[in-house]
Amino acid sequence: MSMTQKDRQLSDLTVNDLMISSEKVAHVQLNNPLEHALLVLVGSGYFAVPVLDESLKLAGSISKTVILDQILGIDRFEVEKLSELKVHEVIEKKLISIDQDASFIDGLKMVVDNPFVCVVDGEGYFVGILTRRAILKEVKRDYYQQ
Ligand code: AMP
Repeated sequence: MSMTQKDRQLSDLTVNDLMISSEKVAHVQLNNPLEHALLVLVGSGYFAVPVLDESLKLAGSISKTVILDQILGIDRFEVEKLSELKVHEVIEKKLISIDQDASFIDGLKMVVDNPFVCVVDGEGYFVGILTRRAILKEVKRDYYQQ
């Protein structure tokens, strides 16, 4: 965190100041097989990651739970489906995203119900994620600065 950001009021911060930028975010693409998505999820240790389209616009997100639900058979996991199904067939389409210029309080409201939200620019391109952890760190800093 830069000195300037450390000294700033919460009300001066934008989502852009707090997000993890896209190049550091694990993600998958719509045409990836589920096997690839599961490898990314297990390898990264995250419960869910963003899904991007070919032009790197945000398309949704995918979680371990959704993948395991898809391959759950009557009495076994149908693991062959991992290579048959693609991410776009199971993607969670309910898009939870926030604009990079949104205020701190708008970011806080979004992470009350979600561990992270995807951040987009004015044209819908994916630019990063805002995590509950990033918001809580700022709230803690502000509390001890009072
Ligand atoms: P955290 O607040 O750091 O525990 O992150 C909450 C959630 O945000 C994680 O469980 C992931 O789903 C997502 N997340 C955090 N950091 C990353 C990252 N670098 N790449 C992809 N997803 C992430």
